[in-house]
Amino acid sequence: MPILNRAAELQDEVTEWRRHIHARPELLFAVENTAAFVAEKLKEFGVDEIVTGIGRTGVVGLIKGNGGGSRTIGLRADMDALPLTEISGKPWASTTPGKMHACGHDGHTAMLLGAAKYLAETRNFNGNVAVIFQPAEEGGGGGNLMVKDGMMERFSIEEVYGMHNLPGLPVGQFAIRKGPIMAATDEFTVTIKGRGGHAAQPNRTIDPIAIGAQIVANLQMIAARTVDPLRSVVVSVTKFNAGFAHNVIPNDAQIAGTIRTLDPEVRDIAESRFKQVINGLAAAHGAEADISFQRNYPVTVNHAAETGHAIATATDIAGEANVNPEIDPMMGGEDFSYMLNARPGAFIFIGNGDTAGLHNPAYDFNDEVITHGISYWVRLAEQRLGA
Ligand SMILES: [Zn+2]
Ligand SMILES: [Zn+2]
Repeated sequence: MPILNRAAELQDEVTEWRRHIHARPELLFAVENTAAFVAEKLKEFGVDEIVTGIGRTGVVGLIKGNGGGSRTIGLRADMDALPLTEISGKPWASTTPGKMHACGHDGHTAMLLGAAKYLAETRNFNGNVAVIFQPAEEGGGGGNLMVKDGMMERFSIEEVYGMHNLPGLPVGQFAIRKGPIMAATDEFTVTIKGRGGHAAQPNRTIDPIAIGAQIVANLQMIAARTVDPLRSVVVSVTKFNAGFAHNVIPNDAQIAGTIRTLDPEVRDIAESRFKQVINGLAAAHGAEADISFQRNYPVTVNHAAETGHAIATATDIAGEANVNPEIDPMMGGEDFSYMLNARPGAFIFIGNGDTAGLHNPAYDFNDEVITHGISYWVRLAEQRLGA
């Protein structure tokens, strides 16, 4: 089955919603206007139950099928934008400098709204579909908060599915894999406390810059010599701040960055070796290190059976040649991981075509994707709920 006719009919309307949201980006949990727009649309469609304020500003709509039955599956979109200034030059570009939809969450929200409209019109399934709109995917853990707020229990959600656009993958194509598909994203900040002094008398100082440089270089030993080369780890130092003059060795230096891993065991190994390297090198040179290590999003792990369902639906929509069932995992993070830790499900990529990359100021969600996304959501719901 190709794209659903009704999804194609919705194209213009959903494009309008997408561009409306795109022009009005909101960050993290402060997505009040987007959430209000979503809730208003769901009401207009006649969605049976609409709950706002889950995970602070999340919205969930429950659509009951015509066939009765009590099984519920969740379909999830994200609503938040990024702190970037848009340079796309599109007529619907962000109206707020410093905020833009550079990850396509405007498209995700609009496509799920389109699917909700379709499903509320047809109701050609048994059981219920919960459409989930979450805030704060870009760093705030809004998905985690919705789970903690009891969303899964409240709506008796048994399976949960997510979708993200992927620039570089042609429009009309899908890509997925079972098991880990996105990385755990841990973050660190380290202050190396030395002893400052005259640049001409380094022997009287404990130089935090020289020690920091050793630390930056040695952290790569985690990837090079600690973790099995067949398993993935990325250690990136992204900040190194120290000093203020040519002739002064400063007291402190600060480094910060991120560690990305694809399985819990490697995650533990990387964290403990990270601390050993820093404490060891600091001690070796007479300095002290203050380490703040924060575990952020967990690994996004697709469940096997649900990945199979997602592949079946995508194949149904797009044809076998347009579905990659074994895409390589990515070292970016995704807070849909928390929902997948709470319920079985799967996260799929949908092609955004040849556009600027995610988080790039020239990025724009590709509206040609809309009918493919709506068709996927609708077919997935109908197939999982036995239409
Ligand atoms: Zn993003
Ligand atoms: Zn995103």
